Amino acid sequence: MAENLNLFTSTQNVIKEALTKLGYTDEMYELLKEPLRMMTVRIPVKMDDGSVKIFTGYRAQHNDAPGPTKGGVRFHPEVNEEEVKALSMWMTLKAGIVDLPYGGGKGGVVCDPRQLSMREIENISRGYVRAISQIVGPTKDIPAPDVYTNSQIMAWMMDEYSRIREFDSPGFITGKPLALGGSHGREKATAQGVTICIHEAAKKRNIDIKGARVIVQGFGNAGSFLAKFVHDAGAKVVGISDAYGGLYDPDGLDIDYLLDRRDSFGTITTLFENTITNQQLLEMDCDILVPAAISNQITAENAHNIKASIVVEAANGPTTFEATKILSERGILLVPDVLASSGGVTVSYFEWVQNNQGYYWTEEEVNKKLHDNLIKAFNNIYEVAQTRGVNMRLAAYMVGVRRAAEASKFRGWV
Ligand code: NAD
Repeated sequence: MAENLNLFTSTQNVIKEALTKLGYTDEMYELLKEPLRMMTVRIPVKMDDGSVKIFTGYRAQHNDAPGPTKGGVRFHPEVNEEEVKALSMWMTLKAGIVDLPYGGGKGGVVCDPRQLSMREIENISRGYVRAISQIVGPTKDIPAPDVYTNSQIMAWMMDEYSRIREFDSPGFITGKPLALGGSHGREKATAQGVTICIHEAAKKRNIDIKGARVIVQGFGNAGSFLAKFVHDAGAKVVGISDAYGGLYDPDGLDIDYLLDRRDSFGTITTLFENTITNQQLLEMDCDILVPAAISNQITAENAHNIKASIVVEAANGPTTFEATKILSERGILLVPDVLASSGGVTVSYFEWVQNNQGYYWTEEEVNKKLHDNLIKAFNNIYEVAQTRGVNMRLAAYMVGVRRAAEASKFRGWV
């Protein structure tokens, strides 16, 4: 039978398994198996050549029982309804894992910012906010950056929302520039969180991070900063990649040089000749593998060839559920996306709290709180995995889904 590469249905399967293990009824699964709300919008945009192009966008709100929904907006040619739905469900799990008073949301626009001018990207960003403005807001649903969106795009979106509402609304969106109420530490938060998980996982496996060989797939916001963090901690980053290929050097890559030369889309390998493919990179020798790009990268086809003894998922959904089983059977410690990449939403929450109170924290305060939250979440999930005899992904789903389930129960929905 062909492997299930559908992120939405495979996420449903694990949510079902987690709810069953926790003793919830089928009705709870019926409630949580897909978003409460899914909006599809069409965004007319005036292009630089004078033509008008209609872009399709989505916003999914999985469950708002614990509080407002929260999650990023992705600008990518492959954005689709099912992916956005799955991503919103993962946001519910992440919020539950790091104990934030949110449900999950997610959005996306089908477009390729690499082919668009800044003005066209601005028009899409503003058009998207106008189209979804009825269902979002600081106490309803709070967007943030994701693949191919950044703090400038968040700034345009915040400005558009504030104009519609006729008052300044910094709490509408997170991942903003500091000058507009962004938080110290937000830009690097996802990478910080992943790095904390790498350190904790290495401790569990008695691997000394100093000298450990690390491969990072993806060199964008998440991948590049975490490569720098582990490099600075003494690890040897032997491989990195972007959408166009990978670089591998058993003696370690010059991360500072690569960081300096990468472009704003996380592209770097186009400057080199001796590149390998992303698929080759994943199977190269290393101790720790960090997929930090896109989904469905480690599948039943290549899971047997992974050399790493620890896989830490910085990206959303990089390992299929079948591959998760294979890695677990092979004794590889897999730290799942919903835990490893929850640093971003954690500091987004801190940003929203600071916006709501109008009082701003130092970078040290933010990083300390993030560190404490993530260590607690990692060890909690590790212990659930050990005591219940399940892999880290199922353990993370069990911990993550509980808050939305309990909140839905107390509200009398189920
Ligand atoms: P980004 O846009 O900054 O960078 C993406 C990187 O992936 C780039 O280096 C790009 O070249 C590479 N890439 C794109 N297509 C690829 C392909 N087909 N094969 C290999 N590499 C490819 O994105 P990001 O913010 O770093 O996000 C990366 C992953 O981390 C995504 O799965 C995202 O959902 C997840 N994530 C990001 C955040 C965040 O705060 N940025 C938070 C949680 C999860």
